[in-house]
Amino acid sequence: MIQLRVTSDTPRGLRHGHPWVYTDGLVEPTALPEPGTPVQLVDDKDRPVAFGLADKGPIAVRVLDRHPDDLWDLIHRRIHQAADARPSVLPDNTDAYRVVNGAGDALPGLVVDRYGDTSVVRLYGACWEPHLNTITHALAERDEVHTVLRRFGVRNVDGRAGAERLSGPPADEPLVVSEAGAKFLARPTTGQKTGLFLDQRDNRIQIARWCAGKNVANLFGYTGGFSVHAALAGAKRVITVDQSAPALADAEENFRLNDLDPAAHAFIATDIFKWEIPETQAVLIVDPPSLSRGQRSDQPAKKAYRDLATRTGAMVAPGGLLATASCTARVSWERWEEAIRDGISKTGRWSWVWRTAQPGDHPVALGHPEGHYLKFAVLRRHQPRF
Ligand code: SAH
Repeated sequence: MIQLRVTSDTPRGLRHGHPWVYTDGLVEPTALPEPGTPVQLVDDKDRPVAFGLADKGPIAVRVLDRHPDDLWDLIHRRIHQAADARPSVLPDNTDAYRVVNGAGDALPGLVVDRYGDTSVVRLYGACWEPHLNTITHALAERDEVHTVLRRFGVRNVDGRAGAERLSGPPADEPLVVSEAGAKFLARPTTGQKTGLFLDQRDNRIQIARWCAGKNVANLFGYTGGFSVHAALAGAKRVITVDQSAPALADAEENFRLNDLDPAAHAFIATDIFKWEIPETQAVLIVDPPSLSRGQRSDQPAKKAYRDLATRTGAMVAPGGLLATASCTARVSWERWEEAIRDGISKTGRWSWVWRTAQPGDHPVALGHPEGHYLKFAVLRRHQPRF
């Protein structure tokens, strides 16, 4: 097997379970074999420190284990173990969830989502490309899987639109899936990510508990995930706002799928950063895309989250709730909370009510802090005479 020597400060991170070796962690980064080639990493005394797959781009090697293993067997074992572990962390009546979450399931760079009987594979590392047949074989062994698709669109790997079928009969598009009994359309081929934002499932269910009888607005609402759960829980009226008209059309259809009358609610296609809300809301959900835009420093992102907190805090009625999120690992929990605190306190007095990170189908490897990307918080705005 090809051996690559790592720099003297690399083994420490590997011991803690970090799944990546960057090019500057290798003594001879130019000697990198084709992506997907199994490699043995050794330290400066030629002692084995890790086994992984060569990759390309800033991440030179994705680490799989300490010692070499048979790849076919390892991929099968890890996919089945991940899939077997999922039902215990999901609500009942749920058939849309993440089956493999990269390093959190010891398969760094590999994501597999389930939408009913369709498995959707997404590669975040080119290292998995030569092993796609093995991945597909393992997924197709599962009773719940009829069709395996590969979704494209990751820069540096396969940054083009669309998807291809890897095994099984053609899948419907859109599919209809269940999330705790609520029905949703999912478009694995053209939707964002692999079709739905599965990571917010538990938060959608939790927020719905605060929405009965209330006026609710869902900003950056996509296909109405939060909106449908809120309306099913008895919200008086839900306004869903997103810049994507096709996503909002699916949101309306999702209301119908759940026997909710879209005409009793509102769907607004607009740029939220230029939009004025008609009145303050009892519950405001704000789930923006990443506001970090890849800068090195987290300062511009922090300012963006702070400004958004000021704007959206002002949209909440006294006594009401703001539920908000960040989906970027580039801003830490601490910095994000600071940004919200600094932004929202300009609009009155608030308390933190509830905070969560990723749900159980998005596990994070202990040695991989970058895997913690999702942050979600609910705050209550106090009455003026609190
Ligand atoms: N809350 C959703 C996921 C939101 S993803 C769910 O639970 O499914 C972020 C969404 O923000 C995307 O649908 C995207 O179209 C939308 N978006 C991004 N920038 C926007 C902007 N400036 N104005 C309105 N919508 C925007």
